[in-house]
Order: sequence, then structure tokens, then C-alpha cells
Amino acid sequence: MGMADGVLIFAETDGGRLHAGFWELVTVGRQLATKLGTTMHVAVQGGDASTVTEVRNSGADQVHVAEDARLAEPWPDAHLAAFATLCRELGPSVIVMPRTPLGMEVAARLAHRLGVGLAPDAMTIEATETGMVCTRPVFGGVARATIRLTRRPWIVVPYRRAFEAATPSSSCQSELVPAPAMPEGTLRTQCGPHARQSDEGPDLERARVVVAGGMGMSEAGSFQMLREIAELLGGAVGASRPVCDAGWVSSSLQIGLTGKTVAPEVYIAVGISGAIQHMSGCSSSRTIVAINKDPAAPIFQQSTYGVVGDWKEVLPAFRDALAGGGGR
Ligand SMILES: Cc1cc2nc3c(=O)[nH]c(=O)nc-3n(C[C@H](O)[C@H](O)[C@H](O)COP(=O)(O)OP(=O)(O)OC[C@H]3O[C@@H](n4cnc5c(N)ncnc54)[C@H](O)[C@@H]3O)c2cc1C
Repeated sequence: MGMADGVLIFAETDGGRLHAGFWELVTVGRQLATKLGTTMHVAVQGGDASTVTEVRNSGADQVHVAEDARLAEPWPDAHLAAFATLCRELGPSVIVMPRTPLGMEVAARLAHRLGVGLAPDAMTIEATETGMVCTRPVFGGVARATIRLTRRPWIVVPYRRAFEAATPSSSCQSELVPAPAMPEGTLRTQCGPHARQSDEGPDLERARVVVAGGMGMSEAGSFQMLREIAELLGGAVGASRPVCDAGWVSSSLQIGLTGKTVAPEVYIAVGISGAIQHMSGCSSSRTIVAINKDPAAPIFQQSTYGVVGDWKEVLPAFRDALAGGGGR
């Protein structure tokens, strides 16, 4: 197999579960491998047997499994040490990293170690024999920059939801290869015990319905209404950045450029003005419903359905209708 030129994807796992964005990376990986006429590889670090089984359905030629207890946690030093070792052994020409706190840290430090460039937040990716050209949002999403990577390996972090999720295929099982052991004595940090933040309701990034609140909710207590509606719809609660900054809800609920990117079937935005930095995190939703008392709010230009009104009048009736009508 043409080892010195493959496309290598970093599959992040959390608590034994594959990160929700993995299948988008597979789409990018498959496209690049086809374009460059090369093989596709996936590195699984710290995943359990079921994650490995799932990853084997990605169509990768090889799945490299690193089994080391230190990789069970999102510990950047350990993941970097293990992944850099694999990269040196495999010599891929392209490395695809997840847009997660761990993925972005490992990507940046790996680029430094390998003496190459990095394309973060890539919305488009174009590879040729001589270089890779990516575009990314800059200045809070109001402009796009073009990045050209020349020296290999090209390291790219695709923007969430900029690429469709690939469909797993069980017809072709990737070959399993043990990843090289992590070199001893290279870790300069220690990983202490950590507490897992318990999020409200279902996982925001996987939910089919998201009910998001903005500053128009006026206070933390108003989010109870959104929680009730989200629960009735089997969805998750999200929020705009100033809401999280104010501490009304956990910052893990932030949607937008500097928060999570979601693309549910239905996105209900309540008291959210529709700033570009917020919309970049939800504009791929299939249906956007906006509830805002200002008819001139920019969100109405991007929503499928709009309700001009005060949420205090609109939402109680909506909730009661959902509760009475047995949900959807
Ligand atoms: C670099 C950068 C990154 C950023 N990243 C993010 C990000 O990731 N996510 C994010 O959300 N923002 C982000 N922002 C901030 C963004 O620009 C906006 O300031 C923010 O999204 C506005 O939040 P909002 O819509 O909740 O509040 P506002 O803009 O204050 O809007 C409140 C809305 O509520 C409506 N309203 C008021 N009362 C009611 C009522 N009773 N019923 C119905 N409607 C009502 C108002 O008409 C108004 O439209 C970022 C900004 C920068 C510069």
C-alpha cells in the first residue's frame, strides 16, 4: 500500500463514544483520497471495541488503534505524543483533525512539530498535487480568508457542518493495525481527575430539534420555558453568546462562531436578533423558526417561519398546544 501518501483522519472519542463530527471528516477524507489517488487511514486513540467497530465501516483502508490507558481522557499531551508517533511512522500527505478543543490543540502542536502549516475552520478544501487551498471564516464570519498549504503533510481542520456526514458502510471492513506505542518520558503534563459537566437534556449537537434563547429572554429564569418546550419536542436547549456570558445557562449551550455548530431539523430561535456570528452556528438547520418582537430583527431574513411577537405571549400557548396535542 502506498503508505507515504495516505490521508489520515484523527477519530476523537469521548467516554468511549465517537465524536458526532467524525462522519463529516470521513467525507473530507474520502474526497481527498480519491482526488489524490491515495489510501485513507483512521487513527482511533482511546476508543473502546465498539468505537473501533464503528470506525471500520468508514471505508478506510486501515484503522490504526492505539491502546493506552492514558488516551482514555482528552489529555492533549498524551494524544499528541501518540498521534505524532503514528504520523512519523505512516508519513501521510494529508492529516484531517476534528474541530474540537482536543483536535484543535493537537492539530496546532502537531503542525509545529512537523514544521508544516495548518488550515483551521476549513469551509472548502481543494487539493492538487502541488498544494491544498482552503477557505475559512475570519473577522467574526464577515469575511473569508484563503489559505494555501504547500509543505506536506497538509493539516486541515474542517469546519463543523461545512461537509455532509458520510454514510457508514458495513460491506467493507477496514484492516486493523496496532498503532505504534507512545514514546516514554515525553509527557510534560499530568492529567488529573476531572468532572464531567452534566448537560441539560439530549446532546445539543445530535438533537433533531433545538430551542435556543437569546437576550430577549431577559433573565435566567425564563429559560425554564425553553426547557419545557424542548422536552415536549424531544429536543435540546441552546443559547446565544451573551446569554452564556451572563451565566444564564452553561457555556456548553452556546451556539455560533465561537460556540457549537448545530444543524437540526428544526431550530427555534427565541429572542435572538440573528447576528452573523450566531447564525454561522445554526444556518444549516433544515427549518428555522424565529420568535422576535422586533419585525426588523435580522433573523427574519434567515428564518423559514417567523413570529413577530413577545415570547411571553407566544410560548405559553405553544407549550400548552404541544402538551395537549401529545407532542408532534
Ligand atoms: C468574534 C465574535 C464572535 C462571536 N461569537 C458568537 C457566538 O458564537 N454565538 C453568538 O450567539 N454570538 C456571538 N457573538 C455575538 C454576536 O455578535 C451577537 O452580539 C449576539 O449573537 C447577540 O445575541 P442575542 O441575539 O441573544 O442578543 P441581542 O442582539 O440583544 O438580541 C435580542 C433580541 O431579542 C428580541 N427581544 C427582546 N425582547 C423580546 C421578547 N420579549 N420577545 C421576543 N423577542 C424579544 C430583540 O428584538 C432582539 O432582536 C460573537 C461576536 C463576535 C464579535
